[in-house]
Amino acid sequence: MSSVNLHERLQCVQKEIKEAEQRFGRQPGSVRLLAVSKTRTAADILALAQLGVADFGENQVQEAQAKIEQLRGHPLTWHFIGPIQSNKTRQIAENFDWVHSVERSKIAGRLHAARPPDLPPLNICIQVNIDAEPSKSGIDPGELPQLAERLLPLTRLKLRGLMALPAPTDDFNAQRRAFMKLRLLQEQLSDSGCQVDTLSMGMTNDMQAAIAEGATIVRIGTALFGPRMR
Ligand SMILES: *Cc1c(COP(=O)(O)O)cnc(C)c1O
Repeated sequence: MSSVNLHERLQCVQKEIKEAEQRFGRQPGSVRLLAVSKTRTAADILALAQLGVADFGENQVQEAQAKIEQLRGHPLTWHFIGPIQSNKTRQIAENFDWVHSVERSKIAGRLHAARPPDLPPLNICIQVNIDAEPSKSGIDPGELPQLAERLLPLTRLKLRGLMALPAPTDDFNAQRRAFMKLRLLQEQLSDSGCQVDTLSMGMTNDMQAAIAEGATIVRIGTALFGPRMR
């Protein structure tokens, strides 16, 4: 990919975030850009890092680990955003700074146990199945308080907030309604005494609606790197 293109795409995304912050009364700079680099090469990541992006998201452990190793020495923050298999928790706990896709206490326990003591606690978002789709990842909203409570004693994890991946739709108002549900769940969590500060929501096609509803991290792949081949 040409770096000129990448630069233009990044500027476009940054502009869209900034304008949405203004339009929806958000604090300037309150939305963090997470570049979703799944399927992209280490060279693509490095090119974006050299343009100032520090946060990268991956959804497959094997693929991610190779890139993380190639890019050691660069001050990057790695976010795991995919489904988590039990047998991959050690690799995730050792290589990532954030995990956005925690949905079971068993997985949380394994991440806690495997987090190396010389690293800071692993930042965690609980993934919520906001549309109650049977095939979708994420816990049901009703189970959220219990899972959040189970995370609290796990000192090698730091619960930061919630993540959702709503059913795709081009209808802006429908997008907003889904993200509003996540925001309200976050507010309930906060009212119950959890100190949460992160709403990980919004991708290329729905980042405006997500920012309108309070996203603090948007996870953007296509708008930065172009269409994915797989
Ligand atoms: C792939 C992916 C994204 C990025 O999606 P785009 O539409 O390419 O911006 C965001 N979040 C998750 C969990 C993903 O798997």
